[in-house]
Amino acid sequence: MPIQPITTGADLLTLTAHFKSNHQTIGVVPTMGALHAGHLSLVGASLGQCDQTIVTIFVNPKQFAANEDLSQYPRPLEADLAKLESLGVQHVFVPAEGQMYPDGFSTSVLPPDVAGKLEGEFRPTHFQGVATVVLKLLNMTRADTAFFGQKDFQQVLVIQKMVADLNVNVDIVVCDIVREADGLALSSRNVYLCEQERMIALTLSKVLNHVEALIGEGQTDGYEVVTEMRQMLIDGGVTSVDYAVIADPQTLNTAESISLPVVALIAAHVGKTRLIDNRIIK
Ligand code: AMP
Repeated sequence: MPIQPITTGADLLTLTAHFKSNHQTIGVVPTMGALHAGHLSLVGASLGQCDQTIVTIFVNPKQFAANEDLSQYPRPLEADLAKLESLGVQHVFVPAEGQMYPDGFSTSVLPPDVAGKLEGEFRPTHFQGVATVVLKLLNMTRADTAFFGQKDFQQVLVIQKMVADLNVNVDIVVCDIVREADGLALSSRNVYLCEQERMIALTLSKVLNHVEALIGEGQTDGYEVVTEMRQMLIDGGVTSVDYAVIADPQTLNTAESISLPVVALIAAHVGKTRLIDNRIIK
């Protein structure tokens, strides 16, 4: 039988009360839908580690700025449910906006300092929206463990710090970036790319490969590496670069002199599509 999504907080509470009374652990995978193998790897991790898995699908308006792609964001709900069903997922929470933000909703999470860098400079309200919805979803699902992708590297730092600072009783598990065979990081936004843009988009992972090799060969001058990253992105045809940095993986402070581990992070526009990618270099 096709999965019947749970659509209300009340129904979710009934379900999770049942899990809790049976002493079952609850794993939660928050998503915005348009599911691909990256999302499904998080789902697989939750199914493997937790007694019960709840996948949430909610395109959260609070994390989009007015000029971003909220209205065109893909929402292939039936296909998403079929993918989840084929993995054996039984519980999918798909709230309408009014369930998450009923009339009069007015509280939000002021995200930790690390939210202000990189993405925060280009998307100033983004992480406030992310932190608010993630905290709500963790509370609503009563998650014991929540699964996030390294693809959104800074998001993971924001969520880890938020749950630590606010004493949220949940384990955060971070899963590796899933890529296409040619290296392109899977993203729901890749559907926006035409064939030529997709070729250009590959530059991001190529740059990360190159940076990893450079640092592996002993390059320690952060400025030189970053200059080369930018140049490669431009030469590869990206429309504009929001940032291309080498940073400390805990603080995201950029590193003038590279001492491992570091993370290389890129955000760039290809046509109208904004793409992000990163690589931890140990
Ligand atoms: P989104 O639907 O974009 O909000 O993503 C939901 C979750 O899937 C987030 O924790 C993302 O980091 C994760 N995710 C997105 N793309 C990938 C990928 N290529 N590999 C692994 N996880 C991913």
